[in-house]
Amino acid sequence: MRCPYCNNQNSRVIDTSHDSHGSIRRRRECEDCGQRFSTYERPILATPLIVKQDGMREEFDREKLIRGIRISCAKRPVPAAAIERMVGEIESTLQAMGRAEISSRVVGDMVIAGLKDLDQIAYIRYAIVYLGLDDLKSIRNEIDRLLEVQS
Ligand SMILES: [Zn+2]
Repeated sequence: MRCPYCNNQNSRVIDTSHDSHGSIRRRRECEDCGQRFSTYERPILATPLIVKQDGMREEFDREKLIRGIRISCAKRPVPAAAIERMVGEIESTLQAMGRAEISSRVVGDMVIAGLKDLDQIAYIRYAIVYLGLDDLKSIRNEIDRLLEVQS
């Protein structure tokens, strides 16, 4: 940590304290000019940017994800609360990864895994649309892949 007064690289920690939010405050003293300053470390719970197949980045959009899942669940016995809960869990998992970016494929796979537990038909529908499968052979290959991954 550079000294904010003289820009020297070396400072000595003279006190460390924790607060109730999990942050750590360190009192430091510059080894060169002797000035004292504090630094804070705190966990960052940001959701990673989603990197799409075409390389474009976009913010994680909880509502958009819920809409897509609802469409797959049309006329299926899936409670709205179950979808909201699943998306909440996906968002928490993404945040816990602590990464700046994550492939949309990772998110899609999480949705597919979650839907498989909720409703098998919704799960296949979502997989077909999300993966852009446009012929029976690739749909069958994908189903085989998913069955392998999740068995
Ligand atoms: Zn200094």
